[in-house]
Amino acid sequence: MKNNHVTTLDLHLNAIDFNFNYFKSKLHSTTKILVVIKAFGYGTSAIEIAKHLEQKVDYFAVAYANEGIALRNAGIETPILVLHPQKNNLKKIIDFCLEPNIYSINILKAFIEISKELKVQNYPIHIKFNTGLNRLGFTEKNISEIVSLIKPQKEVTITSVFSHIAASEDLNEREFTLQQITTFKKVSSILINQIPSTPFKHMLNTSGIINYASEAQFDMVRLGIGLYGFGNSKNETSKLKNVVVLKSIISQIHTIKKGETVGYNRAYKATSTVKTATIPIGHADGISRQLSNGVGYVYINNQKAYIVGNVCMDMIMVNITEINCNEGDEVLVYKNQQHIESLAKAIHTIPYELLTAISQRVGRVLK
Ligand SMILES: *Cc1c(COP(=O)(O)O)cnc(C)c1O
Repeated sequence: MKNNHVTTLDLHLNAIDFNFNYFKSKLHSTTKILVVIKAFGYGTSAIEIAKHLEQKVDYFAVAYANEGIALRNAGIETPILVLHPQKNNLKKIIDFCLEPNIYSINILKAFIEISKELKVQNYPIHIKFNTGLNRLGFTEKNISEIVSLIKPQKEVTITSVFSHIAASEDLNEREFTLQQITTFKKVSSILINQIPSTPFKHMLNTSGIINYASEAQFDMVRLGIGLYGFGNSKNETSKLKNVVVLKSIISQIHTIKKGETVGYNRAYKATSTVKTATIPIGHADGISRQLSNGVGYVYINNQKAYIVGNVCMDMIMVNITEINCNEGDEVLVYKNQQHIESLAKAIHTIPYELLTAISQRVGRVLK
């Protein structure tokens, strides 16, 4: 069914291409590129991004098996790494030709067992080392057990070995990051020296590519937020093109007299006559309720219109007292990266959270 909601998320594919080429230009020509499209492609559209980039990338990554299955059902044939498989979906991973991140002895044993049941041969798996993020992954002391499980069987093959940096965007943590890189080099070579396959290696996310391409490029990088136009610093973001524009229109304009209130809980009380515009987007669409009461703002006619009162589930009201506008006029709820960064900062979060919060009710429009 066609989505007739007037609130839409425009996705600028030429900006995706620009950003992809920008990061590619920082890499050796032989370095493989994995594009991370977990969480609906950071709130954009995983399927559209995948269709657009499948000829250019070596891998895609998603967080969960279901996200990979959706891509396979949409006809994507590129290898897909599932970053966080669980035991109960390992069979589905094989059924849909997805490649699991193997991060614990439990998951390794379970995956080998299922591979035997399904009679697969040389099924590609990716071994993750924890080098300091302390989220998922093996440590050095697991290596001998990994080797003893891998060696006697033919069902699975270690295709890559990887790790993830805890603070790649923060140059104050450079020493810690270099230590993570050193640890990764050490543990990966200990493992690789004892197994029959010759896996490739990868470690860098977006900020890693920006800050550590010479120290830790290895054979592949994992590009996420950068593709969508964010470089995790003002300077880096300014070199990227804007991909997402969250748009709506003015549904209704009200004149609020001194003493009247606006919205739930009467959170805003007018101290003089003000004009407000009601916009059909609310916290159910991903507009954080923390942006209520003058914290967040949209753009109307290129001017800032601050949110008045509480963000409702399906609507916001904004102050247009000083703005010349009419019902039906366009509203830019997220205009560009700088706008998203400023809103994120105002509510003590990061652009990643604002992007991934944009709900599925908002229609995605390719530009
Ligand atoms: C999400 C994720 C990435 C991508 O990170 P960005 O900062 O968005 O580039 C890379 N690797 C892993 C393991 C991830 O979970």
